[in-house]
Amino acid sequence: MQIEDIKSPVDYLIYSKNEIHGYSRAIGKLFDLSTSYISDAEKAYKEGKKVIWSRTNGWEVPLAYSCGIIPVAFSEMGRLSDFETMRIGEEYYQFPPETCSMVKCTVGQWHKRKSKSINRILGAGVACEPFNLALELMKQAGYDVHTVDVIYRAPGMKGDELENLVEFFIRQIYDTVEWLTGSRKIDEDKLKQEIQRKNQLISKVRKILELRIGNPFYMRSLPAIFLLTGLNAGYFGKPEEYEKVLDLLIEELENAPVNEEDLKRVIPLVWVGNAGQEFGVFEVIDQADGALLGFRGYPFNICREDIPPVEALARHVLGNQDAGASVYVQQVLEKEAQKVNARGLILYGYLGCSYSTIAREMWGDHFRKQGIPSINLEGTFQIGPPSGQILTRIKAFTEMLA
Ligand code: SF4
Repeated sequence: MQIEDIKSPVDYLIYSKNEIHGYSRAIGKLFDLSTSYISDAEKAYKEGKKVIWSRTNGWEVPLAYSCGIIPVAFSEMGRLSDFETMRIGEEYYQFPPETCSMVKCTVGQWHKRKSKSINRILGAGVACEPFNLALELMKQAGYDVHTVDVIYRAPGMKGDELENLVEFFIRQIYDTVEWLTGSRKIDEDKLKQEIQRKNQLISKVRKILELRIGNPFYMRSLPAIFLLTGLNAGYFGKPEEYEKVLDLLIEELENAPVNEEDLKRVIPLVWVGNAGQEFGVFEVIDQADGALLGFRGYPFNICREDIPPVEALARHVLGNQDAGASVYVQQVLEKEAQKVNARGLILYGYLGCSYSTIAREMWGDHFRKQGIPSINLEGTFQIGPPSGQILTRIKAFTEMLA
């Protein structure tokens, strides 16, 4: 396949796997895990395994696995959508056209799978109002939905206030276990093992990201995004296989020769957004010698192993970048920009998301004052080529940095 043949995100994955990264078994396996994620999870469900759709905010994944349940990131299902799926959100569920495409795509996918696939959804009120509405609609549509209440750590919250929040969240973890298993009893040994596994995977992902700084073109932007997606999205439903891919990738990166010319011409960038669906964006960055080396989602925070595991989960969530206030993300971005010696930030969100729009403006302004330029892009979630305007802007931005 050649670049001109690409028509969809799946084509991009095949192109990136075979044409760009044909030399790397690890990257090929990473793409395979990603592309088989949803279909294999649905197959496991049909074979009688316990599987739920889940949000993935750092605590759901170890908790669900410790209960013998596979958590499948519903965002990765929404990613399979096209305009038709999105239309279900607009016409059947009456979401206004200006609603963020991620919400409409996910709702459309659940609608199509109703009564045929995984029928339980673990959501959280921390997302946003459109998504909360989506979860309510899915309840009415017959799904078994459980949502935890808002987990929001305001800027500067500490001391007793923070402790109250931790206690509140711990109660919600027990409520979730009751929904998952029918009992409030948590197998702490199993949960501890899952926490240790998560910490181990985090340390391997960190190592890979650090090795990439010294060899920035070995693993280009798209698979780097999927590396983090795997960590956050339930390890693609296959923790052991995901870990093997990480080990292989570390081995490859440690032994891959470094081209000194690459180090001279690379433009280190920080990616501030989710994976999106417009993979052409990553191709344009790569072609302009950009490299996404820093990430908003860098796993800087591990789960403590010296305290009871339920408390460790609560503190992990409330101590990471997605704890609530955007200032926590900004602190991570600062460290990332410094670590990779970033020449620019790419701020990417979905059209119609008023929440991230405000945060992106704030981060852009903050880094401008520090002399680090950024570009603010609004894309879409459903399958379809990226708009020419986005590609032109990103190309111009990367060339400007060069
Ligand atoms: S992108 Fe924004 S509007 Fe869309 S689901 Fe996420 S937070 Fe909500």
